[in-house]
Amino acid sequence: MAAVPRPGSSPRTRIKRLATKTVRDTGVLYAILDAGLVAHVAVNGPEGQPYVVPVAYAREGHRVLFHGSTGSRLFRGLAQGVPTCLSVTLIDGMVLARSTFESSMNYRSVMVLGSCTLLAGEEKLAALEHITEHLLPGRWAEARHPSKKEAAATTVLALPLTETSVKVSDGPPDDVPEDVELPIWAGNVPIAETFGRPVDAPDLRFDVPVPDYVKRWTR
Ligand SMILES: Cc1cc2nc3c(=O)[nH]c(=O)nc-3n(C[C@H](O)[C@H](O)[C@H](O)COP(=O)(O)OP(=O)(O)OC[C@H]3O[C@@H](n4cnc5c(N)ncnc54)[C@H](O)[C@@H]3O)c2cc1C
Repeated sequence: MAAVPRPGSSPRTRIKRLATKTVRDTGVLYAILDAGLVAHVAVNGPEGQPYVVPVAYAREGHRVLFHGSTGSRLFRGLAQGVPTCLSVTLIDGMVLARSTFESSMNYRSVMVLGSCTLLAGEEKLAALEHITEHLLPGRWAEARHPSKKEAAATTVLALPLTETSVKVSDGPPDDVPEDVELPIWAGNVPIAETFGRPVDAPDLRFDVPVPDYVKRWTR
């Protein structure tokens, strides 16, 4: 198999603004994608208006999988292979510099450029399983699988990770030297995502308990 290009390998994915935040490690690219749940996918509508659509997704090997309605104009365009840009952003904290200008966020962010491939048949079902297991680990074995009609109403797309960039911002604020003398608190406030306590559906029957695989979900 041909070697896959590392993040930032093409001229248009080379980070210019705050280039010190560039990460070229494919392992970090994978780790960010594996930690995320939602990607934003850009498409141009037929009238030339850009739309950015949030979607659930999963990484599988060197590609990202996501799905949408066959009735969606935007997904139909993506299924035909129009160029797109997908991004995933994880927020790790607020960074409070003495000045508002230098205040920022700590984050891990990925951008993927390319065109999607439409998946069909067994590959489509396997992709749906993969997406489900990324979002809801353990669920595929218990939940009812898509019927023929449901599968037919679902577009499943794969976007290769051949043209990507990774930008990571971490650490303390970077104040200009004269601001360090100001009597203003500076530092950062971490942000962490957590799962809350599971809540029974109001129409739950048979006194079914919360499954063990759900109890194991932690963040
Ligand atoms: C949570 C968050 C908040 C941000 N807030 C702001 C803000 O308020 N104002 C602001 O100007 N910028 C902000 N940024 C940074 C912003 O995403 C861009 O990196 C920045 O605006 C530079 O854009 P550019 O097109 O000039 O970058 P360039 O460096 O010219 O972009 C060149 C290439 O670098 C890659 N690239 C650029 N940005 C990113 C990225 N974030 N992640 C992965 N690859 C990237 C792309 O492949 C792009 O084609 C924020 C980023 C994050 C993740």
